[in-house]
Formats: sequence, C-alpha cells, structure tokens
Amino acid sequence: MAERARLLLLGGTSEAVALAGRAAPDPRLVVISSLAGLTRKPAKLPGPVRVGGFGGTDGLVRFLRDERIDLLVDATHPFAATMSKHAAAACAEAGVPRLMVVRPPWQARPGDIWLVAENVVAAAATLERCARRAFLTTGRRDIPAFADLAEVWFLVRLIEPADRPLPLARHQVVVGRPPFTEADEIALLQAHEIDAVVAKNSGGELTYGKIAAARRLGLPVVMVRRPAATPGAAVASVAEALAWIDNHLD
Ligand code: NAP
Repeated sequence: MAERARLLLLGGTSEAVALAGRAAPDPRLVVISSLAGLTRKPAKLPGPVRVGGFGGTDGLVRFLRDERIDLLVDATHPFAATMSKHAAAACAEAGVPRLMVVRPPWQARPGDIWLVAENVVAAAATLERCARRAFLTTGRRDIPAFADLAEVWFLVRLIEPADRPLPLARHQVVVGRPPFTEADEIALLQAHEIDAVVAKNSGGELTYGKIAAARRLGLPVVMVRRPAATPGAAVASVAEALAWIDNHLD
C-alpha cells in the first residue's frame, strides 16, 4: 500500500474541526491538526494534534520538512493574519501546496447600523463616541485596546474565564461558546441595557446572532474590518477544501 499523504491542518476554527472530522477517516491521509494553544479546553479533534507556535516562518519550514508534510490547509480565523502569512511563506519555501479556508465576511443588511473600524484601536475610538454600555466580543487579547474608555461599561464575552483581571475599569464577564442564537443575544443585550455592540467581522453563522440582535434592537455595531487577505488559493467551505485535498491525492 502506498504511503499515506501527510496533511497539516492549521486550526482554531469550527471549519478546522469539521474538516478534521471529515478528512481524518480517509485511509489515504494522516491529518495533523495544529492549534495555537490559546484555549485551555479546545474542541476535540480526531488524529494527532500539536499545540503552540512553530517559531515563525523558519520554524514552520523546519516542521514541514521534519514531519514530511505533503499538503497544508490553513483553516485559521480570518483575523489570524500572522499565522496565514507565515504559512504562505513557509509553504513557498518548502514547496508544499497550501489552501486557505476563509469564511466569507458578513455583509451589512437593511436595518444594520454598522460603524466600520479598520482595527480594534479605531473601534475603541468609535465606541467612545457612541456608547455608554457596550457588548465586547472581540476576544481576550484585543481587550487592552479598550482600556482607556473609563466612561464605558463593558459586558465582555469570553470563551473561557479570564486567568487574570481584565484591564477595563467597569465591566462584567459572561462566559460562553458559540453558537449563540439571535433570541438569546436579544435577551442578553436587553438584560444588560447594552447600547452598542463591538464585533470583528469574522463571518459565519455561529456568532451572527449578535449582529441580527443588534439590527432587531436598532443598536449600532462597531464592526472591525478584517486584515488584508493573504494571497493564495482559498475556498469558503469545508466541502471545497475536501475536494482540493482529494485532487492532490490523485
Ligand atoms: P496570529 O496572530 O495570526 O498568530 C500569532 C502566532 O500564533 C503565530 O505567528 C503562530 O506562532 C501562532 N499560531 C497561530 N495560529 C496557530 C496554529 N493554528 N497553530 C500553531 N501556531 C499558531 O493568530 P491569532 O489571532 O493569535 O490566532 C491564534 C489562533 O486562534 C488561530 O488558530 C486562530 O484560528 C484562532 N482564533 C483567532 C481568532 C482571532 O480573532 N484572532 C478568533 C478565533 C480563533 P509562530 O509564529 O510561533 O508559529
């Protein structure tokens, strides 16, 4: 029997979990999932999982060579721009075919009040002008950008409880993992008398509830634009990624 192809799957998203679940049982493949290690309890993945940074582009090139990786699928989050850039450079150097799985960004719909910000720092400046009680869903590492907004009270949603105090003068933490329904998000926003939502334009259905809820309640959403897309082959769905993998196994 021919040797199995070795696929490195850069994860940290629901798409990566779904892709690992669909690809790992393929007898022609070994699927090695890679996580940055930011969450203490990541979703369960089939097959081997490695955790932690590679050590930049050079480290990833070494990993690709040492582990004899044949294919790389970058299913990281649309805001994980550094990892995607490193993957592009490392695959070019090591001659490994690479595909990105990029979920389409949300588009504003009639009734949406979006205040688009280029990054989280700009989002904080915008928020200061329009909110007194904000729902902050950008993720733990972006919270320091909002630290100077002493006049704003924050409801902060995190996937896991914070391991240290948040640098916000006035806030409450709510812990939860997607999916979040529109109805639940409306109830949450109303219960805390939220007057603005801060979100990254991550795209996808699992976290869209807050956007729909804001529209329903007539609240502004300070929407952080995605970083520039990394050049290279990209698909929008797990099914298309499976087809790409299949093409490379022939
Ligand atoms: P990032 O800024 O692009 O990456 C920072 C560094 O973390 C990378 O240079 C790399 O370290 C390491 N890294 C990132 N993803 C990795 C992976 N899948 N496997 C191994 N190392 C990884 O990315 P980030 O925004 O910190 O995101 C980190 C992870 O969280 C990603 O897997 C992403 O899918 C997930 N995530 C991010 C967001 C977000 O809003 N940014 C939201 C949800 C999930 P080295 O340079 O040492 O290799």
